[in-house]
Amino acid sequence: MHLTLTPQKLPDETGYNVIGDLKGSEHPEQIVVVSGHLDSWDLGTGAIDDGAGVVIAMESAEILQRLRLRPARTLRVIAWMDEETGGSGSRAYTAEYSNDFPHHIAAIESDAGAAHPLGFDVKSSPAAIDALGPVSSVLLSIGATVLQPTTYAPGADIAAMSEAGVPAFGVLQDGRTYFNYHHSAADTLDKVVPTELRENAAAMAVMAYALTNMKGSLPR
Ligand SMILES: [Zn+2]
Repeated sequence: MHLTLTPQKLPDETGYNVIGDLKGSEHPEQIVVVSGHLDSWDLGTGAIDDGAGVVIAMESAEILQRLRLRPARTLRVIAWMDEETGGSGSRAYTAEYSNDFPHHIAAIESDAGAAHPLGFDVKSSPAAIDALGPVSSVLLSIGATVLQPTTYAPGADIAAMSEAGVPAFGVLQDGRTYFNYHHSAADTLDKVVPTELRENAAAMAVMAYALTNMKGSLPR
């Protein structure tokens, strides 16, 4: 086998995280983050990794708006820049907001594909996972009831928040086909199944709404 590889490292350019807040009606200073990452690997268009995650996060805010559900805490949608080559977007957010992490009630990232959601990976205390049982039962009809405890942050961009004690969630997708497309020329929009993308947005919207409106915050 003969491989011809042509990678090159170009100088850094300025990029930006894109952040939008749905202001909380009772505790606007308390933040629940929903997120995906904006950059992608260069071969395909990054529809699955991680265009889907950005759409899922944006759509979870859109669903609350459409249902006229006002979050009591602030729902913050973040499209992170530069997850793939070093996480400088996450680092910039941490530099600017780490003093405010005690007011970050929870952070969710979707960065494991666009396929059918099974539930969430959760890096938090066992008490927090117990408290979320009734929330996951709401997702029974779409089969997304798993709350799987993890020992690592379930999302690279929310790792710094997680390390600071913020309960961290990753949407747990059916990953059986993910690595057929991941970082390849095949990661294009035709591989995204609209019904499954909608299920992911529903799962994130339900969890985010619960986290913005629950009495008291999750035990850390
Ligand atoms: Zn990714």
